[in-house]
Amino acid sequence: MFQLPNLKYEYKALEPFVDAKTMEIHHSKHHQGYINKLNAALESNTQAQNLSLKELLLQKDSFDPSLKTAIQNHGGGHYNHTLFFDIMSPNPGQASKELKDQISKDFGSHDNMVEEFFNAAASVFGSGWAWLVKDNEGKLSIAKTANQDNPLSKDQTPIMGIDVWEHAYYLKYQNLRPEYIKAFMSVLDWEQVSKNFNE
Ligand code: MN
Repeated sequence: MFQLPNLKYEYKALEPFVDAKTMEIHHSKHHQGYINKLNAALESNTQAQNLSLKELLLQKDSFDPSLKTAIQNHGGGHYNHTLFFDIMSPNPGQASKELKDQISKDFGSHDNMVEEFFNAAASVFGSGWAWLVKDNEGKLSIAKTANQDNPLSKDQTPIMGIDVWEHAYYLKYQNLRPEYIKAFMSVLDWEQVSKNFNE
């Protein structure tokens, strides 16, 4: 049975960038909802119950269509939100030298990477995510996914990502998604992203 991870900070800790009400609903209702539905879908499959969340996402095609869809949507939702909440901080840290060097190599500069990420996040049509992903050779790139799909299914490991579903920002930012993306960048903890990069 999967359980809702605790946040490393209080719901109000990311204000004024992310408001407490949005954080509370996002974590305690939306993220919890994905976990509840994933657990319900796994109830009848003892083989799947023995797998980690990452293993479920990587092996989803081996299950029957309804379980595969549940893993894609609700397993993806659990994975994506765990990463998303983990890379935000009221006291964001700096990127490691190793990550900075890789970003310079693959994007030319940190600013270029941020611009490409920003444009990706702003242009997701409908509900989805924008990501900074690492391929099997350690090369970084920007990716977009729809709904709760996850880059793991394309052999890319997400190390940073933003939720651009309206539930992530509508209470405070309404239709102004670019303002929300800017706010997210203000609380983005590059120290945690660096840890994800090294894993
Ligand atoms: Mn969300």
